[in-house]
Order: sequence, then structure tokens, then C-alpha cells
Amino acid sequence: MASKLIFVTGGVLSSIGKGITASSIGTLLESRGFKVTIQKLDPYLNVDAGTMNPYQHGEVYVTDDGAETDLDLGHYERFTHATMKRINNVTSGQIYQEIIQKERKGEFLGGTVQVIPHVTNLIKEKIRQLMSSDVDVVIVEVGGTVGDIEGLPFLEAIRQLGTEVGRANAIYVHVTYVPYVKAAGELKTKPTQHSVKELRAIGIQPDIIVCRAERSIPASVKKKIALFANLKEREVITAKDLSTIYEVPLVLKKEGIDELIVEKLQLPATKDSDLSKWKEIVHRIKKPSKGTVRIAVVGKYVELPDAYKSIIESFVHAGAANDVKVEIKWVSAEELDEKEPEEFLSDVCGVLVPGGFGERGVEGKIKAVQFARENKIPFFGICLGMQCAVIEFARNVAGLEGAHSAEFDSSTKYPVIDLMEEQKKVSEKGGTMRLGAYPCVLKEGTFSFKAYGKKEISERHRHRYEFNNKFKEVLEKAGLVIAGTSPDGKLVEVVEVKDHPWFVAVQYHPEFKSRPREPHPLFVDFVKAAMEISS
Ligand code: GLN
Repeated sequence: MASKLIFVTGGVLSSIGKGITASSIGTLLESRGFKVTIQKLDPYLNVDAGTMNPYQHGEVYVTDDGAETDLDLGHYERFTHATMKRINNVTSGQIYQEIIQKERKGEFLGGTVQVIPHVTNLIKEKIRQLMSSDVDVVIVEVGGTVGDIEGLPFLEAIRQLGTEVGRANAIYVHVTYVPYVKAAGELKTKPTQHSVKELRAIGIQPDIIVCRAERSIPASVKKKIALFANLKEREVITAKDLSTIYEVPLVLKKEGIDELIVEKLQLPATKDSDLSKWKEIVHRIKKPSKGTVRIAVVGKYVELPDAYKSIIESFVHAGAANDVKVEIKWVSAEELDEKEPEEFLSDVCGVLVPGGFGERGVEGKIKAVQFARENKIPFFGICLGMQCAVIEFARNVAGLEGAHSAEFDSSTKYPVIDLMEEQKKVSEKGGTMRLGAYPCVLKEGTFSFKAYGKKEISERHRHRYEFNNKFKEVLEKAGLVIAGTSPDGKLVEVVEVKDHPWFVAVQYHPEFKSRPREPHPLFVDFVKAAMEISS
């Protein structure tokens, strides 16, 4: 069977859960035995998300093959078994860069290069690259909302592609918002009507509309939307706000979205979905039997949780695995630096210092590590968090006064964290860090080895600096445990501290590989250690 296509567009507002809808459709189709993949088309002109500020874009999600992508790709991986690659996130920036490079090489033979057909053709080609014999359904999410000027080439491309592959091979799912107007005490359908009109003006008739709303949408409202959108009532799916995103596939299934998709795409009849494991996880997320455990995340963007999306989700998965709710206490590293760590950390059972760039808040993060180490509070350091743990240990245990990372102090006597050799000649930004999956070998008897239950692991990286091997001996002598290295032993990937309930710091980003059905072992053990402290 050639791959079928599901295009997911958004209307009315951004941030209404298009990504979660696309992901949930993936969960449901997979549970019926189909192989799926999901692609995000981003209309912005950045080549990738790697150079974008977390304030504007949230987390940069890294794939195994080293692409720096939109955070929706994280949801795609968490909701399905698919592995995302570079081709799963296409931006206008990439499309134009490729076309302009071709034009400069003279590959258009003097022709005029235009949005239609050149840009739209290349977009279609990028979608087709995912259509293969081992994928039954490619779900394509178009970023932004219908009506955005920059999104037009993408909508035109998906319109054309739908026609090219034919009706039973492609459908359009439009996700809209149905606001509740308090003063009128009513759910309003007008914005949805307008966005469907806009979509139709481009030549796309939606096959299914998913209406997001704060509260349940009554049948009469559904009927009205169906009428205006030229749809049957059952083709209008409603999805009200839920306490956990992982419940969305279950709600969409209740609304019959998977039946509709199977029918419309004429997918072969397969067994009905087996969502028992998924349901059990959702139940544990909503009603854990072991109460709550509070863990501090000491970072820079604490007012912006989207910047730490995958870490938050990893805690949800690890919480479910331990049958506990993880309550994250967001601590500003800068504030912590100005005051005393006890003020922020005396009521938590675990401390996590996440990744980051730039000097702001670094001293606060180092103080948080020291507090966790000295007070025997379970500690988990990730990327910059690992580098801070090394600096802290060097300064306060090994006696290397003023030890630092060369990123923040180029003249330190003890650059325990230094620029990687291959990074020294790089001046361009974007895609130039150590990126993607690398193997790592763990030392037996360590916290990490115990968590993973095996020696050889693979994890994703995104950094320029690393542990400086010149200080390996002196730090090991002072008691730092080198718990994981690259297979050739040259790169230190994991460090630990002994005589501590749980102290693990990793140079990679474990949060990118945690899924509800496969919670990350380090998060699971970290949460377990935190629970032991609290009891
Ligand atoms: N800024 C550090 C580096 O580039 C850490 C990066 C990170 O935490 N992702 O090495």
C-alpha cells in the first residue's frame, strides 16, 4: 500500500493543540496496526529552530540524526513509536535556501523562479520523501493558522498534493477553536465558520473539523458547525480542555475520529485499537496512588515552561512509572544566586539543573548543585547542568578555586569545561554544535548503570563545550565518578558523586528520549530516589 496522507491545518488561533491532535491521530492509527510518521511544515524563514530564542519558540527538540527542530516533533515521538528525522521538520527557510542555491548554480536554465510552481513543488517533494512502502500514513501538520501570509505556499502545496494523490489517499483535518463568551453564556462558532471559509477560498474543503473548547460542545453547536462547513455531524469532532495531553487520543477515539479516518482513507480493516497500556498510563497520570513528590528545576526560563517541554513531559512519564505525581517547583537560577539556596530548595526532594546557554544564572545553578550535594538531596544535571556539577565539584571538593567553564570565563586557571576540539574552528551559528545521537558506555556499579540496566546506551546531544580531560585525574582523585564515556573513552558523558542517595549528571539530553510507554530510566530512578527522601 502506498502511503496515505492526513493534512492537519489550524484555524482561529495558534496554540490550540494542532500538534497534539496530529500526534493523537498517530497514536490511534498505530494502535490499529498502521505504521505512521508525522511531519511538521513550519512557515517561518529560519532554516531551523536551532538559532531561535526559547522565549519565542520554546524548546529546541533534537532528533537522533542531529536536526534542531520544532518542539512538536517531541510530541510526535512521545505519542507514537516513530523516530523523527531531519526531513520530519521542513521550514520556509530550508525551502528558500535550497531554491536560491539552485538558482545561483543556474539549475533553472534562465527560467523565472516563482512560488508556484518552484516553491510548492519543493514542498511537495519534501512530503513525498516520507511516503514510502514502510509507512502506511504520513500525517502532515502545517504550522501557523490559515490566513497567515507566510503559510500560503504550504497550503497551496498540500492542496495540489491532495489532488495529485486522489480523494481516498489524502484527507484534511482542520483544528479550530470554539470560544466560550461568558457575557453571553455561549460557545461561539463564528471564528470556526470564518476559518473554514478561508480554507475553502484556498481550495481546501476539510474532511474533519476538530473543535477545541474550554468546555463540552453541545450537539446543537456541533450541528451548526457541520452545516456551515459542509460536513456531517460526526465529522465535527469536539475536544475540550483536559488535565493531561495524554488523554487526547482517548477522547478523540470516543468521538470516532479513527473510524472516520479509516473510512475516508479506505484503509484496510484491521483489529480495533489496543489502547489498554495507554489508558493505564493516563489513569496513573490523573490519579497516582502514591501522592506527590516535589522536585525543583533550577533554570533560566522558569517563567516559560515551554522552554523545558521535554523535561516536563519526562517527569510526567517517570511519575506515572512510579505511580506518583511530580510537582515541579520552578526556581530562577538568578534569584537563587542573589539569596540563599535554602530559601528555594529546603522544601524539595530532588533538584534538577537543565541545559542552557549563556552566563545568566550560572552561579545560581552551581550553588543549587552544591546545596543538593551537601544536603544529600537527589540531583540530576543535564548538559549545562552536568557542566555546573563538574565546576561545583572542582571548586568545592577538589579545591580548584575559581574553576569554570571556558564558555563563561575564558581566563580561568581551571577550565574544567572547555570548548570541544572540533568546535574551535566553527564561527557560524545553526547546526554547528555536537548534535544528535552518540553512543556511550557506562561503568558498572554506578547509579546510571543501575538505571539503564545495561552498559551500552545511545543519547542525544546539543552542546559546544565538554568535560576537559586535563582535569580528569585530579577530579577522580577527589572522588568524582566518571560513570559514562564515549566508546573510545575520550569524551566524558556521565559523572556521579558517591556517598549520596542519587547524584547523576549527564552531558546529553535524556529528556528527548522519554516516552509515556518508555519512560526514561534516569528520570524514573531520579523520581524514585526523590520519593525515598520524602518518605
Ligand atoms: N552551553 C553549554 C554548551 O554549549 C551547554 C549546552 C546545553 O546545555 N545544551 O556546551
